[in-house]
Amino acid sequence: MFDKILIANRGEIACRVMETARTMGVKTVAVYSDADREAKHVAMADEACHIGHGPAPADSYLLRDEIIAMAKATGAQAIHPGYGFLSENPEFVDAVEAAGLTFIGPSADAIRKMGLKDAAKALMEEAGVPVVPGYHGANQDAGFLAEEAGKIGYPVLIKAVAGGGGKGMRLVEKSAEFEDALRSAQGEATTAFGNPDVLIEKYIQQPRHIEVQVFGDGTHTVHLFERDCSLQRRHQKVIEEAPAPGMTAEMREAMGHAGVRAAEAIGYKGAGTVEFIVDGSEGLRPDGFWFMEMNTRLQVEHPVTEAITGIDLVEWQLRVASGETLPAQQGELSISGHAFEARLYAEDVPKGFLPATGTLTHLEFPPNCRADSGVRAGDTISPWYDPMISKVIVHGPTREVALSRLSQALAATEVGGTVTNLAFLGALAAHDGFAAGDVDTGLIARDLDRLTQAPEVSFEHRAAAGMQALGLVDLDWHAGFTLWSDLRRSVHLSYQGEVFEATVEVDGADRQIWEFPASPEEQVCANRIAGAWVLNGLSLPPMSQADNVITVYDGYGLQFEVVDPLDRDATAGGDKNLIEAPMPGLVKAVFAEAGLAVKEGDRLAILEAMKMEHSLLAARDGVVAEVLAVDGDQVEAGAALVRLEED
Ligand code: ADP
Repeated sequence: MFDKILIANRGEIACRVMETARTMGVKTVAVYSDADREAKHVAMADEACHIGHGPAPADSYLLRDEIIAMAKATGAQAIHPGYGFLSENPEFVDAVEAAGLTFIGPSADAIRKMGLKDAAKALMEEAGVPVVPGYHGANQDAGFLAEEAGKIGYPVLIKAVAGGGGKGMRLVEKSAEFEDALRSAQGEATTAFGNPDVLIEKYIQQPRHIEVQVFGDGTHTVHLFERDCSLQRRHQKVIEEAPAPGMTAEMREAMGHAGVRAAEAIGYKGAGTVEFIVDGSEGLRPDGFWFMEMNTRLQVEHPVTEAITGIDLVEWQLRVASGETLPAQQGELSISGHAFEARLYAEDVPKGFLPATGTLTHLEFPPNCRADSGVRAGDTISPWYDPMISKVIVHGPTREVALSRLSQALAATEVGGTVTNLAFLGALAAHDGFAAGDVDTGLIARDLDRLTQAPEVSFEHRAAAGMQALGLVDLDWHAGFTLWSDLRRSVHLSYQGEVFEATVEVDGADRQIWEFPASPEEQVCANRIAGAWVLNGLSLPPMSQADNVITVYDGYGLQFEVVDPLDRDATAGGDKNLIEAPMPGLVKAVFAEAGLAVKEGDRLAILEAMKMEHSLLAARDGVVAEVLAVDGDQVEAGAALVRLEED
């Protein structure tokens, strides 16, 4: 076994790898960018090396030679790449090996063979693995591709051959939409992967995404059963589970064999995932699955497989990379119970799932789940990397029990300081179709309105925020409280931009009456009973406060702001005349020009941030007064890009 390894990654996966390394007595070296000096993975590692000359991945976590030099300098014998960054980069693997180090993962050759979706498909066809009908050749002429799409038959899917994470992928329903979709897929593919090439595939109706976890030692491969990742939003996984609901023994065996065949065809070593698309329209059938791609690394969702098999996949990675043969044979592997993983992100769901940034003023997970997280309370979600806060993983003896544990774990997760998708995840966990195991990749889009409904804010919540704002939660009657001359007080709070006033009459240390001048019929009576506050019969939820932001941990975290009623800006709401950058990013295109008449919802600019393109829309009908940015501008959050004429 290695004495010391370097982890060429950051965030939760770097921490995850370090946890196992530590239990195996293997020392760890972290690398970190300018933006990550204070990050959790740096604190966890035995040693840490600063890399690069800037926070952007290209200036830090993607610097192959520097990372290898750090490994040499610190005496690490092997490099674990995590996922993303350099994990599927064959040149990196070659360079690691040329430096006399071990790459914890497959060979460069195996990665190359699976690296591009088109070549991988051809190879899999040869190995007798079923693949989705489509065009995956070299001709990239737009007219030719449109013709191929016609031959395949609409709807079709355009996919970046270098794709990953759903980027560079477009669903095209009819031929008239093909050309636009192609252009935008190619644009996104160029930005994300530096390769505009695409392939065209038949779009499977009611598709389910079921993938097989495989593990090889270069000679033999076993599979560790399947994961169902059908709950997706725009082709990005949201909640994953294992095993797949409705899976039959016959189909599991067929898929497992196909996964093993795919891995053995390329002499696979290490952890890998063979992704299949499954036609869910007529239930699961052993002949109803097709190869999509193989991910030649550890996947984000590997913990659900660990939960049902009891195997630590990172331990296997280290053992096999250090020269051991497969730690178990197929017959020794079995499934126990059911597991779910939910991806908790800093994102603004009402604003179309816009990635968010911010400092986590509070972060707490309940004890009945596994939280794989790369951040701690006090850490910052920066605009430079994926805004994942944590993965919340639960296990139970049955799917029903595991799902109810997921609901409970999400409800008890507390995040302060940034908006999150927690309420959305909670709504999904409570979705009746999902509960029934009726999953397909369209489920989220079909029920998006229901799943993204803002949580109810009650007057008890408002009173709770008021108590926090005025310091009336922990008040001690004997320690100065009586110094107040006025026992009636009021506070202005805002919730999602709506400002309201709350007034309180303090009736001793253990009783308060809250009222809301704008809703005179509402009253909240707060009583402290045996030291605990009860508001109209409901217990006071936990809360946290950072500056003027109060988070009430009920309904997945309700954020209130304490506002100064004299501060007009805070109460006026957004300026609908301005189209502003919601986060730092690169202006990809501006469609507006002075004098142009626009309608509410018209796309006026495209901002590229966090590797994704975001459309910026007009907030109202109007006429463009001024364009304040040009293509190629790097802008800060809040920068005005377009101004409309006053109404
Ligand atoms: P990426 O590598 O960008 O993640 P994948 O090829 O893995 O792309 O596909 C991502 C998701 O897109 C799948 O999980 C599935 O939901 C959907 N998808 C992919 N191919 C098809 C298809 N042929 N028909 C229907 N949906 C598909």
